[in-house]
Amino acid sequence: MRPNILDPLFVPLTSFSGIGPKTVTLVARAMGRDDADEVRSVDLLLLPPYRLIDRRHQPGVAFATENTIVTLKLHVDRHQPAPPGRSNAPYRVLAHDDTGQIALTFFHARQQWLEKALPIGETVLVSGKVEWFNGRPSMVHPDRMALESDAEGFPMIEAVYPLTAGLSAKLLQRAIDQALAGMPVLPEWLDAAFLERNGLPGFNAAIRTLHTPGDALDLLPNAPARRRLAYDELLAGQLSLALVRRRVRKLPGRPVDGDGAIRDRILAALPFRLTDGQRSAVTDILTDMKSRERMLRLLQGDVGSGKTVVALLAMAACAEAGGQAVLMAPTEILARQHHATIAPLAEAASIQVELLTGRMKGKERSAAIDRIEKGDAQLIIGTHALFQESVTYHDLLLAVVDEQHRFGVHQRLRLTAKGTAPHMLVMTATPIPRTLVLSAFGDMDVSRLTEKPAGRQPVTTAMVDMARLGDVVTRLKQAVSDGRKAYWICPLVEDSDLSDLMSAEQRQEALQQEFGALVGLVHGRMKAAEKDAAMDDFKSGRTRILVATTVVEVGVDIPDASIMVIEHAERFGLAQLHQLRGRVGRGHDASSCILLYKGSLSDVGKARLSIMRETEDGFRIAEEDLRLRGEGELLGTRQSGSPGFRLVDLSAHGDLLETARDDARYILEIDEDLATERGKALRLLLYIWRRDEAIRLLRAG
Ligand code: ADP
Ligand code: MG
Repeated sequence: MRPNILDPLFVPLTSFSGIGPKTVTLVARAMGRDDADEVRSVDLLLLPPYRLIDRRHQPGVAFATENTIVTLKLHVDRHQPAPPGRSNAPYRVLAHDDTGQIALTFFHARQQWLEKALPIGETVLVSGKVEWFNGRPSMVHPDRMALESDAEGFPMIEAVYPLTAGLSAKLLQRAIDQALAGMPVLPEWLDAAFLERNGLPGFNAAIRTLHTPGDALDLLPNAPARRRLAYDELLAGQLSLALVRRRVRKLPGRPVDGDGAIRDRILAALPFRLTDGQRSAVTDILTDMKSRERMLRLLQGDVGSGKTVVALLAMAACAEAGGQAVLMAPTEILARQHHATIAPLAEAASIQVELLTGRMKGKERSAAIDRIEKGDAQLIIGTHALFQESVTYHDLLLAVVDEQHRFGVHQRLRLTAKGTAPHMLVMTATPIPRTLVLSAFGDMDVSRLTEKPAGRQPVTTAMVDMARLGDVVTRLKQAVSDGRKAYWICPLVEDSDLSDLMSAEQRQEALQQEFGALVGLVHGRMKAAEKDAAMDDFKSGRTRILVATTVVEVGVDIPDASIMVIEHAERFGLAQLHQLRGRVGRGHDASSCILLYKGSLSDVGKARLSIMRETEDGFRIAEEDLRLRGEGELLGTRQSGSPGFRLVDLSAHGDLLETARDDARYILEIDEDLATERGKALRLLLYIWRRDEAIRLLRAG
């Protein structure tokens, strides 16, 4: 399948001389990968050095300053081995240049080896740091040594790669050198005019420059070689997304065209009017679903912006068309909550809703699956796991994925590309900046809910030192006796002697001293039924304070809860704080959020909490988050750099992303099966960037 020309790029590293399986494991670890078996030559070629060592400074012995790397051209005068019986004493090689004398110093040295490396009477190049003792210079264990006649192999500028314990720079370099030596000459897949206009090198030249930087400027993301490779990486991603998407859209799409009857009944049963944003999002979705192409749309809306009802109306349209729609939530609590919200509205509209979660077992479960298979249920609400299990649908027209900000879009698209798949609506509260949407989803259609439903009160946010906990409790007492409800978030579940944090369980106990039975508790380690009971108690008002871990972070909707206390707020990321705060400010009461922090805050900690106080705008918070933590965190992956990329740094290459998107679209418009010369070259690009699963979607092999 893979063109033979690429074979040298896909040899395992163990085929290199001096590289065994153990080294490969270390190389994989240094790359942050856990699939050592899959590491190939090409992965080394695409591994960027992050620093360089400059050995060009050649001041002469007398002018070598301490602690800087210098290269000296020396005449070797004599060898002075350690005296017999004193193996701890150093072996010295005395040498000079025009400016002075120096001792090259070695501990535990092998005489034979040194006599060969530094022969008496020869001129040699050595590089390393010089130390001065009592006015005498010495260089302990030079980093590099070579005979002058051999100077070609002496790199004046050395690339530095990420290493790991047990992996030496030398060994890694050895592997990279072999990878470079084996690199085939490949046909160009980028447009010649584009390369020229942007001053970008060809692929082979770019790879060579990547590994042999001329100076520090070559390491910057916008150095031509890096930009070229970053563009390749982006184009490979966009091209594979575009291929998958084209494929998905080509599957026999079932146009969904309801008469609006069910939607009207739902709208009539709603206690509110839709916002303009909700209305236009619904229109976007219905328009998509009416066409023969399959819908692939992202609904982006800040916490509390009212995404659920948009999804419900889209699902209702499917019921009108005689089919089914499924809503997948990331957690059991959320699935049940959606079910509780939707069931009465569905009843008002005379349609059947089925709940199906991983927790349901036995008869209950098989009965639910039965109703889904027979088509008795039009709306199905459940957890993600379900969609992967083999539940067969009677006539599934739409799948809605809720709160899916930890997405692996490529994977999911692949899943839907497998068989017949319904229209897709992905809903996220994470205000992903446009560049990230593009890089993660490709050219996906996006609807945004930018306004909050009318009547929402702003949430007042305060930062309070833990030392003033007593005041907070006093005020909470007043609020509770006024009939208000509060969440109290703790970072931990149980006592742990590793930490001085108050656990949720301890906090519940402490608050019970003041509030008695009005304090509930919910956390991730509780049994499912206990969690439900705790949420129900809080919803119905049997409890007034709900102590919780971040299980309430995503999506929980209890409109009359109006106080959010976050203990150890300094431990949470901005996105998480925003999500948590989004649990209040949903009803008509003025709401407040209290960020409790302990001790002195770090600068970043202070900056985070101040941003929370300044704004409720999710986009602004996401941007600040991006600035403070890097994109990785925002998408729930913790790698450094831009998530999922090797060479791309979206803060420097954002412009390339747009170009790559357009390029990918254009390429497929004129060469749908990548069958032209350029198309064939582009297939190589997909292999190189491990996007070859997309190639299987092409018709012509
Ligand atoms: P999210 O976008 O965070 O999922 P939800 O769909 O849970 O938001 O909606 C949050 C709350 O706002 C719910 O209580 C919902 O009933 C309410 N809501 C949704 N749309 C409107 C609207 N147009 N006017 C008033 N309240 C609304
Ligand atoms: Mg929601």
